[in-house]
Amino acid sequence: MEGALIARDRVGIQDFVLLDSHNSETAFLDNLKKRFTEDLIYTYVGILLISVNPCKELDIYTKKQMDLYMGVNFFELPPHIYALADNVYHTMLSEASNHFILISGESGAGKTEASKKILQYYAVSCPSSTLLDTVRDCMLMFNPGPAPIGSGPNDNSSRFGKYMDIQFDYAVGGHILSYLLEKSRVVHQNHGERNFHIFYQLVEGGEEDQLRHLGLEKDTQHYSYLVQGECSNVSSINDKNDWKTVKNALSVIDFDASDTEHLFGIIASVLHLGNVHFDGDTKGYAILNSNALLGIHVQVLHEALTFRKIEAKSEEVLSPFTVDLAICARDALAKAIYGRAFTWLVNRINESLENKDSERKTVIGLLDIYGFEVFSVNSFEQFCINYCNEKLQQLFIQFTLKSEQEEYEAEGIGVKKHRGIISVLNEECMRPGDATDLTFLEKLEEKMGNHPHFLTHKLADKKTRKSLERGDFRLLHYAGEVTYCIVGFIDKNNDLLYKNIKDVMRLSKNPIIQECFPATEGDSRRRPETVATQFKNSLLRLTEILTAKEAWYVRCLKSNDNKQSGKFDEVLVRHQVKYLGLMEHLRVRRAGFAYRRRYEVFLQRYKALCPATWPHWRGVPAEGVEKLVQHLGYKPDEYKMDRTKIFIRYARTLFATEDAFEIC
Ligand code: ATP
Ligand code: MG
Repeated sequence: MEGALIARDRVGIQDFVLLDSHNSETAFLDNLKKRFTEDLIYTYVGILLISVNPCKELDIYTKKQMDLYMGVNFFELPPHIYALADNVYHTMLSEASNHFILISGESGAGKTEASKKILQYYAVSCPSSTLLDTVRDCMLMFNPGPAPIGSGPNDNSSRFGKYMDIQFDYAVGGHILSYLLEKSRVVHQNHGERNFHIFYQLVEGGEEDQLRHLGLEKDTQHYSYLVQGECSNVSSINDKNDWKTVKNALSVIDFDASDTEHLFGIIASVLHLGNVHFDGDTKGYAILNSNALLGIHVQVLHEALTFRKIEAKSEEVLSPFTVDLAICARDALAKAIYGRAFTWLVNRINESLENKDSERKTVIGLLDIYGFEVFSVNSFEQFCINYCNEKLQQLFIQFTLKSEQEEYEAEGIGVKKHRGIISVLNEECMRPGDATDLTFLEKLEEKMGNHPHFLTHKLADKKTRKSLERGDFRLLHYAGEVTYCIVGFIDKNNDLLYKNIKDVMRLSKNPIIQECFPATEGDSRRRPETVATQFKNSLLRLTEILTAKEAWYVRCLKSNDNKQSGKFDEVLVRHQVKYLGLMEHLRVRRAGFAYRRRYEVFLQRYKALCPATWPHWRGVPAEGVEKLVQHLGYKPDEYKMDRTKIFIRYARTLFATEDAFEIC
């Protein structure tokens, strides 16, 4: 490894902007491959960082490496995620401005790893930031794995989107926003998938006393929510060790013994709930057969899970559930408990991360969201995840390729098509009476039928029809075609929990559950927002947060579909390079002006190079910069000046200036 670094990695080109030959995709891929073969997984396109998943541990994340990159100019060392992290940090300090790092790529490409590396770097390089490690560890528990076949297994696939503001000041603080936790996983996993790690960690790692207290068996096979995927054990995951990490993380964010007990009580109760079975009585209605849960009397819970309370005029009528309906009610409750406890925990983490000392904070936002997913069966969850990726891709285009945006839109890569789908879905969900997944599909065909990127069995021509089931719809996303199965869209979007179940949860003796099901919720006559609406709104808010900051990008690429180390699947990588718009990005970077600096910042850094600006320039900053670049001999085509910034076309121009600076 040393060798590669000392050589300032002359293997391949470390910044695509400097790739002399041509703009061809083949040259681009050759360069990536050449570097990948030498374990050089990072390459720049200007200040954008490409990372190719090595699928093996590399010796490049040591403390020594971190020290090497600290405070060093971006282009002086081989590309590294630390260089990016460091550069963002120093730009933030010198410009007193806010930034964000958007990490994107498909499932298994290395986004979460990248965000962990950045957090690690800040934890080491910035004062008093041990909290960052804790955040990372807390978030570990909400990962499940492995991701289903089709996109390649990822034992640690993120099942929620996470945006985190890291506030830098005398002390480091932060704030986390989480998006769309994949709650359905609590009650259902496809073959080869796990539930959320925390369940296995508790069962495998929990002490005997604790398990006895929670009424749990030390056997994951005992719990029906844990056995469906038939993969409780994954070789790459050590639940016992991770359990220790989680417990330690909780203690750092000030969880005392009773908080911990209550939180684990909730995790255990979800497992118990999964084992609640219903027998049919002679009429086929459900009867619960299990013991007490969550400190709620069994009889009360029984009634809530097997009857629906209907308020008619001034009367309350109890309508019994069939066994199937009772199972639905049970699963809805398990999902609600887990989802709300998750939100509660994120809020708790935020409280402990809050940096109360300071008024003026500059932040670096870190966005790690679930990657684009194509499975053998795709459902509502994949639709939301892919919608989100599509939105972020559009944001990227907006920020970096603005001039090319029209072209993209003409090609229909924009996200507008989904706006249609979500509103049709919401309309169906609001429609009283007999809306079903199939009526939703019919509505879609009616409203979206003409869209070139929307297809169903009915709309397809003879040849394509073979590949579509009757209950499917297919979308052409920016990253490729995805066929969605309509089953469950209406229910998942509604995410209904009957009022009497909520009322009953309020009787729980567990204080976290009490907080998660507040009394005020029952009063509201308003219909709760659908899941898609909540998601869309939170994405809108995220977009606003991001737009107010300066953007940096890490684009993660998956090297192959089987997590095989050293394997560079050219077809797969080429596809990602294409849909991530990396060639376009390179073209714009080359044709356009890759480096931009605010006048004040540019002047401040380089004023020593010109007698007219040294030691002080007292005039308008733009004029000072003009003087400076003329003195440095910048050619007219090498730079451009706008209202507030200087734009520099080539890295080499800036390098030369930096070199001059070093000498002086
Ligand atoms: P998802 O969208 O499913 O959450 P992701 O992009 O977050 O996927 P990661 O979980 O970060 O993917 O990466 C998948 C696996 O690839 C990791 O568990 C790790 O084994 C390996 N990996 C990724 N990046 C690196 C790296 N830089 N060095 C070593 N291994 C890596
Ligand atoms: Mg992830």
